[in-house]
Amino acid sequence: MPAETIAIGTELTSGAKLDTNSQWLSLELAAVGIAVHYHTTLADDLQANINAFRVAVDRADLIVITGGLGPTLDDLTREALARMLEVDLVLDETSLEIIRSMFARRGREMPERNVIQAMFPEGSTPIPNPRGTAPGIWLEIPRGSRPPCRVAALPGVPSEMKPMFREQILPRLGSLATGRVIRHARLQCFGLGESAAEELLGDITARGRDPEVGITVHEATITLRIVAEAPSPDTAQDKIFTTRQQILERLGEHVYGEEEEELEDIVVRELSARGETLASCEGASGGLLARRLQRIDPNGGVFRGGLCGLSDEALATVLGMSPAKLRETDPHGPDRASQLALATRARLQADCALAITPRSRAAVHEGFTDVPLAHYALATPQMVEVRELNLVGDPAIAQARLTKSALNLLRLHLRNR
Ligand code: ATP
Ligand code: MG
Repeated sequence: MPAETIAIGTELTSGAKLDTNSQWLSLELAAVGIAVHYHTTLADDLQANINAFRVAVDRADLIVITGGLGPTLDDLTREALARMLEVDLVLDETSLEIIRSMFARRGREMPERNVIQAMFPEGSTPIPNPRGTAPGIWLEIPRGSRPPCRVAALPGVPSEMKPMFREQILPRLGSLATGRVIRHARLQCFGLGESAAEELLGDITARGRDPEVGITVHEATITLRIVAEAPSPDTAQDKIFTTRQQILERLGEHVYGEEEEELEDIVVRELSARGETLASCEGASGGLLARRLQRIDPNGGVFRGGLCGLSDEALATVLGMSPAKLRETDPHGPDRASQLALATRARLQADCALAITPRSRAAVHEGFTDVPLAHYALATPQMVEVRELNLVGDPAIAQARLTKSALNLLRLHLRNR
């Protein structure tokens, strides 16, 4: 029983705004076992709406429309529904009274054009909207021998649409839901390429597997999404648990977190549990490391602060090093990275420090020429460790990879200590 979402608004098709309603609705529907097979996004255009509604009624058993219910001329959803069905728009006195009283409560007269919001395609049911003026519309469209197509049209404003959907649409979907529930879980991994991860995972990512495991990559973080379908929430969770264990066995310490977790969340949590602190000194990552750490540790309980983009002279002054000694090391090289990590750790009185060198202009790396590189180092009370990273590709993504690589070095150190 496929469903379709239709998001209406020229602000969506023009690119000014992203349609997040369809994403939210699809997750809500999936949770009750209704799969969404189509996301349609439409401009505020009457004929486009009528055409798209016709197509949807034919291919989906449930359609959830958002937007276009406002009082202005570009709000065309009710009219497009009526035209598609070849019925009139009729006034619903109850809805009109509710809208009038909403204006009265704010001490305002209802503008005449708001009457349109109390007009409904003949044969449809108004869906009250306690948080705004635009009521929704519920329709069941007969389709001959096929089950009727059910249509819910809701306001585009997410804060009105979401409660209306949960309180008034979901309860109407009982007989449509498969009786099966769908549950999702995400595992976050770092330190592996996508193909290496797929190779290690083997048949776990096979299409049609139950539960299904999808793999996506964003700025070198690999996200595994487990989707389990089962007759009850408990069995779905059990299935997720089993698959999760299989993934952990195959990917081991490359799995760092769950759901929305980032590497810095883990690192700060682990350091905080140990009562330890961290400082940073950055070149090529442009302060991104400090920004990530500060976002989750704004009061500085763990993160003692970061230096960024300093010249050699400034570094020598701030870190209390002799300029001559600093000049002995290649500014992009491994020795510079460990020198900075050690000095930052000492100067900022932190237990650990991460240092990242500036980006080298170009180097020879694994047989390729002109590869920009940086080195990053971790200094702890026990040791210093240095790594090299190539910064090929989009500079912003390279900065994210570099920052995450440094955080991952610390995470693995804390894990294995
Ligand atoms: P009504 O909500 O009365 O039906 P409308 O949806 O056409 O009318 P708009 O002014 O277009 O009202 O949108 C109201 C707000 O809701 C805007 O901030 C708009 O960006 C947001 N919105 C509309 N549709 C979506 C969507 N699909 N995803 C996210 N936000 C949306
Ligand atoms: Mg609109």
